[in-house]
Amino acid sequence: MNCDKVVNDVYTFLDGELTGVRRSQIEWHLRKCSPCADSFHFEERLMLLVKRSCSDGDEVPAELFDRLRALIQQETTEGISGE
Ligand SMILES: [Zn+2]
Repeated sequence: MNCDKVVNDVYTFLDGELTGVRRSQIEWHLRKCSPCADSFHFEERLMLLVKRSCSDGDEVPAELFDRLRALIQQETTEGISGE
């Protein structure tokens, strides 16, 4: 399992569509690799925010994604993530 594969699978993982060995491989990698863990938590928060903002479950506007991404990045840069 290398970083490229982990990053590729992050969305599937977050969708809950990864199962079994694949899932444990990624969890294990995230524990050892902080760059991947960072990007995982970043996407996780992004996805949660998007889900909260679009409760009707329709397509998420790309613009919203961009705005949230910028917001989180800003927050991360300023170090007020609280975790
Ligand atoms: Zn990695």
